[in-house]
Amino acid sequence: MVTFQYNGHRFDINWSGWTGKETIFYDGRVVSDLRNLTSFTSRHEFDVIEEGQTTRYLFIMAEFGQDIEGRRNGLLFYSRSKGGVLVPESYRAEREERGEPRIIKETIIKEITLVVCPHCGHRNDSSNRKCERCSASI
Ligand SMILES: [Zn+2]
Repeated sequence: MVTFQYNGHRFDINWSGWTGKETIFYDGRVVSDLRNLTSFTSRHEFDVIEEGQTTRYLFIMAEFGQDIEGRRNGLLFYSRSKGGVLVPESYRAEREERGEPRIIKETIIKEITLVVCPHCGHRNDSSNRKCERCSASI
């Protein structure tokens, strides 16, 4: 599972190599949900309203969730490949290439990898050795 913030919105991307289930949460609610067992890549597309505008998000997932590419209205804003590489700079560059206005607000992207406690199901930061809620080893 990967969690990050982008432009004040929170994304939780969840996948299971066992069941092939992939779920995307936007500000805590499910916006895309599918099961991917047969193809190498899957597409998650959904619309949300941001600042009064319909905004389309597309996430392409591959390698059972290890590789994720995120696009907002067609423009790349998030990229993760195994280690966790983020490319907000390319999003800004693509906008400028198209002559779209610069993003004035500073973009803050932070990625946290969460580990689900096998004992109680609590989501813990991957740096934790013990579950914050039940103290089981994780
Ligand atoms: Zn626990």
